[in-house]
Amino acid sequence: MSVKTMLITGASRGIGAATALLAGKHGYQVAVNYANNDAAAQAVVHRIKSLGGKAQAFKADVTNNDEVIGLFKAVDAAFGGLDVLVNNAGILETFGILQATPDKISRTFEANLFSLYYCSREAVKRMSTEQGGRGGVIINMSSAAAKLCSMPGGNAYSASKAAVDGFNLALANEVGAQGIRVNAIRPGLIATDIQNGRGGLEVAAKIASTSVPMKRMGEPSEIAEAVIWLASEHASYVHGAVLDVGGGR
Ligand code: NAP
Repeated sequence: MSVKTMLITGASRGIGAATALLAGKHGYQVAVNYANNDAAAQAVVHRIKSLGGKAQAFKADVTNNDEVIGLFKAVDAAFGGLDVLVNNAGILETFGILQATPDKISRTFEANLFSLYYCSREAVKRMSTEQGGRGGVIINMSSAAAKLCSMPGGNAYSASKAAVDGFNLALANEVGAQGIRVNAIRPGLIATDIQNGRGGLEVAAKIASTSVPMKRMGEPSEIAEAVIWLASEHASYVHGAVLDVGGGR
């Protein structure tokens, strides 16, 4: 069987980095996308290679349509195809409705939603059996915020992630007959840098200790396991689903 390629957006840190490491261990060729943090991306690539895996870092802002087109061409050139796209990159900026300027609203929706359109379009071009592809898997990173909508100042973030759930199902309906499985994951509170957007890890840990049934934050590796399962043949009839991985939230 040929080696499969997984492209993970936002894989220099947090959930994306953990997914990249686990994908490398599972034998995927890993395309590690990132926006700015060259050192972090190279460290992920180095760790995968040091364990005998194959990986390369690809700098591209996934909110920029032209850069996304370039990203997919670069992955083609490096790995000769694409089997799994993980639409993981995202941002958390908290602001109340009175502070909701067009710039702020756009930044959140461009990062958390528009990027999924740009990347999924390029993936479908390559994976769709109707376009001569061999099929594939797309996994969209949503959030428990999509259903809870409870984070102070999290209106735009929650709305953008609720839109991810809608996008996920609509895309699943559109490309299910083209050999492409599409699913989403809703992580709960996970210990990553993104928590700086709501006051840091200590604040997040406190929230987890009271409002998460398992009384703790999750680790990025616990989301990575779900990604690898959804990408695998073990999930061959899972399509259009949204998987909650949030300790009960
Ligand atoms: P994180 O630790 O802040 O890491 C974000 C990653 O995304 C970094 O690799 C960053 O690259 C990259 N990124 C940001 N904007 C980008 C852009 N425009 N183009 C390319 N890459 C970009 O975040 P995380 O917690 O791992 O979150 C990953 C995903 O899970 C997000 O979609 C988030 O909304 C979702 N999620 C997280 C949690 C949680 O509690 N952590 C809960 C629910 C959902 P650089 O290093 O170059 O900046």
